[in-house]
Amino acid sequence: MRLHTNIHTPPSLRVEIRFIISAYSYPFFVRHPSHLPGQDGKVRLFRPDMNMRRLARSTQRIALPDFDQDQFLECIKELVKVDSAWIPEEKGYSLYLRPTAIGTQPSLGVGASKNAKMFVIMSPVGPYYKNGFAPVSLLADDRYNRAWPGGVGNYKIGGNYAPGVVPQIEAGEKGYDQLLWLSDEDHKVTEVGTMNFFVFWTNKAGEKELITAPLEGTILPGVTRDSIIDLAKQWGEFKVTEGWFTMKDLIEAQQEGRLIEAFGAGTACIVSPVKNIGYQGKDYAVPLAAGKSGELTLRVNNTISDIQYGDIESEWSVVVE
Ligand SMILES: *Cc1c(COP(=O)(O)O)cnc(C)c1O
Repeated sequence: MRLHTNIHTPPSLRVEIRFIISAYSYPFFVRHPSHLPGQDGKVRLFRPDMNMRRLARSTQRIALPDFDQDQFLECIKELVKVDSAWIPEEKGYSLYLRPTAIGTQPSLGVGASKNAKMFVIMSPVGPYYKNGFAPVSLLADDRYNRAWPGGVGNYKIGGNYAPGVVPQIEAGEKGYDQLLWLSDEDHKVTEVGTMNFFVFWTNKAGEKELITAPLEGTILPGVTRDSIIDLAKQWGEFKVTEGWFTMKDLIEAQQEGRLIEAFGAGTACIVSPVKNIGYQGKDYAVPLAAGKSGELTLRVNNTISDIQYGDIESEWSVVVE
């Protein structure tokens, strides 16, 4: 391999980085379609307060200087106004934002950075699913861990994500779409790819139950996760549990016909239905009662999407213009 010695850094990229770390969250803007009668064309942001709090917690965890959450949100709103022509006006499309913070104190030692740069990467994005849901197959690979007790898996810190790429590529080579992350010797089911993971089943006590792993340090506190738990509790039609369950529990439920559906949850897609889980050389089919997803998955997706577009009134959906 030849090394190039004439490397140029464009002036705009010349940041002196103390830690190559970033903390980010994903609020995003949607514009309600205005071309139909009764539709308001307004721009909305989904749960910006919760996203800002998470960003602040993440930057604190890596000892970056504090920032004023309200002011930063005001800056983002101004930015979006300036660039509002980039907000797509079509259901399913949105303007994606990734606020990022990096430590920039010019020194080699490991310690808190007194200086930081915050910037927002922004791009219009198309619908996650172009032709309705595409249910995914998961590989539960017990050789890898995404997060561990005492670690930083519960923060959105850049360094958490690169180590997941090789396991993800390997899962792809084996014909699976995503990785189902396990933890501990009993193979607790934690998250899927970079999403939280939900299972809807009839539990061992015979109750209908929606379950997702608890926020005890290794689970990323997803805004979508929180919204789904809240909605499901409001509906009050089944038990809602933040608790641990293992691959053994999941397989038992599947084999006894108690597994109703399973899905990932995150801002980019809202929900991602699961059709199959590979584990220790065997595949376990997950029911898709509504065709390409389960019925609860579909209901959660439609409800949150309607809230984001303001078709359902909610304090989660904040009008910007
Ligand atoms: C971002 C993320 C999620 C989902 O969080 P949302 O706020 O719902 O987008 C879940 N798990 C991981 C590991 C994540 O990085």
